Formats: sequence, structure tokens, C-alpha cells
Amino acid sequence: MNRARVAVIGTGVIGAMTAWQLARRGLEVLAFDSHSPGHDRGASAGESRIFRTAYKEGAEYVPLLRRSGQLWRELEQASGTRLLTRCGGLTIGGSEHPDVVAVRRSAEEHGLDHEVLAADAARKRFPQHRIEDEEVMVLDPEAGVLRPEPAVQAALRCAGEAGARVLSHHPVTGLAETAGGWRITSAGREFDADHIVFAPGPWARALEPLRALPVEIRTIAACWFAARDVALHRPDRLPIAIRRHPEAGFSCFPVLDGVAIKIVPHHLGWPVLERPGDLPRSVTPEFARGAADAAARLLPGVVPHPIRIGTFAEGFTPDEHALLGPLPGARHATVLTGFSGHGFKLAPVFGEIAADLVLGTEPAYDISRLDPDRFG
Ligand SMILES: Cc1cc2nc3c(=O)[nH]c(=O)nc-3n(C[C@H](O)[C@H](O)[C@H](O)COP(=O)(O)OP(=O)(O)OC[C@H]3O[C@@H](n4cnc5c(N)ncnc54)[C@H](O)[C@@H]3O)c2cc1C
Repeated sequence: MNRARVAVIGTGVIGAMTAWQLARRGLEVLAFDSHSPGHDRGASAGESRIFRTAYKEGAEYVPLLRRSGQLWRELEQASGTRLLTRCGGLTIGGSEHPDVVAVRRSAEEHGLDHEVLAADAARKRFPQHRIEDEEVMVLDPEAGVLRPEPAVQAALRCAGEAGARVLSHHPVTGLAETAGGWRITSAGREFDADHIVFAPGPWARALEPLRALPVEIRTIAACWFAARDVALHRPDRLPIAIRRHPEAGFSCFPVLDGVAIKIVPHHLGWPVLERPGDLPRSVTPEFARGAADAAARLLPGVVPHPIRIGTFAEGFTPDEHALLGPLPGARHATVLTGFSGHGFKLAPVFGEIAADLVLGTEPAYDISRLDPDRFG
């Protein structure tokens, strides 16, 4: 059989899922990464990620999220690894807050199961959150928590079992278009490919063919707080949550390590970086204090001093929707980058769409909103 050679550059969650989808369709896949799978220098690490189906970022994502949910289950079965715990998800805020309104709209438009709890009911059911009288909770029972590091490793393991070669600690340092594809330089060797899938996350603009893409690198920090009653904060009692309060905004994750819940503050800023390699390994005292204040104010069941802080780099586009499609100005190249803080849950379906694009098959979903050429 004359198999197409596809190179995947980057094996964060997006490249790993793409490699899996390409390899299971019988393509010859060679995947490169500067680091090892599940590393903590990019966007796909930090213990937990949110999966949601009622989507404030746009109701048009719902079909993609449904497909992603199926593929997460397929990957769990194929790899024998538990990756997604459907613990439910809460959006918490004033009933007129745009995110609360958007989640309700998304659920209503697509007939998704959901429940709206007024303040009293919310306090009784989820005492882990301090709720103001005018706040509501929207409960999405299909939401849950994903495990990022095992997910990346599971997808690459399945890709490997389907024949893909995964080259860790292989930074791609040279790229040249040839008559029929690409020549790639990595770790002092050259490789030929018929097609390249670029999945470099926040490193996009460090690669010459992607230099013009509008991908800004930002630091996102996560803070862990010890739970006083661990049992009350495990996934069987505490859904993932997105909190919108006039004084603080954050995403919140149940205890997975037996000790602490995690929050990712949204109200303290996500500083821009020149290069992902400049990622600071800690946060400023102001950030740590701001996160602690938010925990003290809104999470009554935790000790409000962070016991662990992690920093991660992510690529953002100007409209905070990803770039996914043929690479403008190049032949035989597909790009997936700029996931703007919400790409993890969708990675399996984005990998499937990338495989369609490589094979020249029309994807089953409308991805025009993600056109890499939309900024001109
Ligand atoms: C703290 C944080 C919290 C988040 N929370 C959520 C959430 O709850 N739910 C959700 O859905 N999304 C969330 N996101 C977003 C989501 O995690 C990202 O969109 C997703 O992980 C992006 O994956 P990626 O593969 O594009 O990037 P990365 O994981 O960064 O992978 C890119 C890979 O490319 C490699 N690479 C780059 N350049 C080269 C090169 N030249 N040669 C070889 N390899 C190269 C890098 O080493 C890296 O491994 C969050 C992101 C962060 C940072």
C-alpha cells in the first residue's frame, strides 16, 4: 500500500488527537515534539480541564462538543484509561450576567438537559460555593472534568498502536516546501512528508510558515487550595464550575489529588509573553493575593492560601476562536492553533476534522468560524 506520509508538529492535546485520528485511518504518521508527552511547558497540562456542552462561547459549538464527548469515550475504551468524569458543571453568576445568559441560551437552543437553581436551592445543594441572593447556578449534567496529561499520553499510545511514530525531544528547526510536500529538519536529521499538520499551540509564530498568524501567547496560572472536608469537594459532590462574581471570576475544579481543589482565576489577567520559553514558573505576589482573596470570599470550604501554583502558556487569537484549516499561502499544510483557553475539550473532534482536511474529505461540521484566513 502506498501510504501518505503526514508529519504532525506538536503533540500537545491537539497534535496527539490528530495523530491518533490520522493513524487509525491508515495514514503513515510521524509526530514531532520538542518535549515529552504531557509536559507542563505548553497548554495541555495542570491536572484538570473542563468539559462542557452548554457553551457560552457559541451555541454553534454544541454539535462539535457532542461529537467530542463520543470520541473521549472511544479514546477511554481504546486506551483503557479513565479520562472524563461527568461530574456535571455549574455556571454561577447574576441571572443577567452574559455568561449565564449565553449558557442558558445554548442549552435551550439545542434542547440540552440543564437545571437553573435560584440562590436558596443552590446554597443547599452546593454549599462549597458562597452564593449571593441575586445569583443563580445553571447545572449542565453532561459537563465534567478531563485529565490532560493522561489524555495526551493515551491519544499518542493509540496513535502508536495504529502505526504512528512519535518523536519526543525532537524540536522542528527547519521547514522547506518541496515539489510534492515538505522537508523537515529536527534533531540534526531530515524527514520528508507529503503533508504537514501544524499543531504547535502557543509556539505558532516561532515556526516560519506560521509567523504571520495572529496568535498571541499568554500565561494562564492555576492555584490549588486545600479542602477542609475533602469528601465534600470530590467530583461526586462538586461539579466543575465557572464563577462570575463582581469581585472575582474563575473556573473551579474538584479535588483530584486527594487534597486540593484548583481554580484558574480569570479576573487577575493573563499576561502576554514574547515567547513561550519566557513562561515564568511562578506568579506575582499580587496575583497570589488576588487568588487567595477570591477563595476566601467565594469558596468557604478551603484554606485560602494556595498550596500549589502552576503556570502554563496558551495561544490566543483576536476573537478567541481557534485557527483550524488549510494554512494560508502554503500547499499540503493544515494548521490548528490559537485555542484561546478553550480547546482541550474539543481536541478529539478537532483531530478528526484535521484528518478529514488532510484526506481532502469535507468535514461533517461547519468550521468556517475557525478559518485561519479570516483576519486577512
Ligand atoms: C491553564 C489552562 C487552563 C485551561 N482550561 C481549559 C479548560 O478547562 N477546558 C478547555 O477545553 N480548555 C482549557 N484550556 C485550553 C486548552 O488546554 C488548550 O487550548 C489546549 O491544551 C491547546 O493544546 P495545543 O496542543 O494546541 O497546545 P500545546 O499543548 O501547547 O501543544 C503544543 C505542542 O507543540 C510543541 N511544539 C511547538 N513548537 C514545536 C516545534 N518547533 N517542534 C516540535 N514541537 C513543537 C510543544 O512542545 C507542545 O507540546 C486551558 C488552557 C490553560 C493553559
